[in-house]
Amino acid sequence: MPFDYDLFVIGGGSGGVRAARLAAAEAGARVGLAEEYRMGGTCVIRGCVPKKLMVFASGYAGAFEDARAYGWQVTAGGFDWPAFRARLEAELSRLENIYRTNLQKAGVEIFDTRATLADAHTVRLADGTEKTARHILIATGGRPFVPAFEGAEHVITSNEVFKLAQLPKRILIVGGGYIACEFACILNGLGVAVTQFYRGAQILRGFDDEARGHVAGAMRDSGIDLRLGTNVQRVDRVEDGLWVKATDGHDAVYDAVMYATGRVPNTEGLGLEAAGVALKSSGAVEVDAYSQTAVPSVYAVGDATDRINLTPVAIREGAAFVETVFKGNPTRPDHDLVAGAVFTQPELGTVGLTEEDARSRGPIEVYATAFRPMQSGFAGREDRVMMKLIVCATTRRVLGCHIVADHAGEMIQLAAVAIKMGATKEDFDRTVAVHPTLAEELVTMKTPVRTG
Ligand code: NDP
Repeated sequence: MPFDYDLFVIGGGSGGVRAARLAAAEAGARVGLAEEYRMGGTCVIRGCVPKKLMVFASGYAGAFEDARAYGWQVTAGGFDWPAFRARLEAELSRLENIYRTNLQKAGVEIFDTRATLADAHTVRLADGTEKTARHILIATGGRPFVPAFEGAEHVITSNEVFKLAQLPKRILIVGGGYIACEFACILNGLGVAVTQFYRGAQILRGFDDEARGHVAGAMRDSGIDLRLGTNVQRVDRVEDGLWVKATDGHDAVYDAVMYATGRVPNTEGLGLEAAGVALKSSGAVEVDAYSQTAVPSVYAVGDATDRINLTPVAIREGAAFVETVFKGNPTRPDHDLVAGAVFTQPELGTVGLTEEDARSRGPIEVYATAFRPMQSGFAGREDRVMMKLIVCATTRRVLGCHIVADHAGEMIQLAAVAIKMGATKEDFDRTVAVHPTLAEELVTMKTPVRTG
């Protein structure tokens, strides 16, 4: 019996939508896609996009202050969260609609419902209808993880933060990763009193140590009460908010407690294991280098596979899947030298090896500088920018680049091109500086600060 579709995609986020569109538009495949919530997934609806718009919103507090130093007679009124939230919601609906329209234009049939895997070639929709497909793509993403503790039912996650009716006056953020640090900065900028607990010795584990210290220092200087080596013991609802007892003996009342303690793959109740798809202990779908699962007709991309959980990576994985399965061009998604940014204030942009990782692999030279940037220095701010290159002492190749600065995300994208191409320190040196900019420091660092 012929299949209903060549491809059925479960999940309408970054990876699933890209794969569905490419398979339909470029390979002429008959494609169905099921999404149980809103088209666009985490990135568009409750992640990168609304987060970045909140980063922009929170940046104005500092901009107003700086403007006065630059001669502008401005007085900032208060931040109107409900007004911003209404505009944010309208923007997300607009983007959601674009995603939907683009899928439809490509000829993808959309099912606004949950779908599960019935067998190697069949998906079952929530109303019991079954659809068959030659290939099935699992692109169900991830969701916030909150550990079990007394009072866990009182806390919110990044899913809820965009929907708050009012901004809290005092918030406790728990975690030291991307989301915790980004929201600590965002909410601090919007005038919320922010306390952040991180259980370890320094936030942003896995990033370059010097960069982590630099970001933590800047966060503290901006007024965030960052407490390291601290975790939550219990949370109780009290008359004026949420009472939190911390492991360091500290106790205080907050209007909200936000957990940003990691994300887990959304793979429960999808019928994956019953159909023969192997899962890791984390719940992530096990895939090979081509994103194929243990069931040959079933593939998986994006956060559901817990490889590198970033939107652009999920998009590349979706595209590589289409090349492999529908275009006869076996393609492995490239997970090497993926650049990234943490949208703290200042931002942390990073690509390649940290100083610590590079040193464990062989002799290196470290070029680093920290300085007060012209723009904020003129405004009387003490902010400092950090730039760092890790160079292999034998091949001279730049192995890593770490930038802590406003717009570091923009800068690191371009540095990543050079580093991906295999640029050496001498290639950086012979590139003439663009003056006066922050990024020019990347090509003017002459003497290593450390070797070995
Ligand atoms: P991360 O994995 O980055 O950080 C999780 C944090 O929670 C870590 O500090 C971790 O501590 C801590 N933690 C974990 N379990 C517990 C616990 N039981 N009690 C206390 N603390 C705990 O996760 P996020 O939720 O911040 O983000 C998820 C992923 O989403 C990121 O890894 C990234 O891939 C992606 N993302 C990317 C963004 C970007 O590109 N700008 C922005 C937001 C998210 P420890 O270090 O000790 O393990």
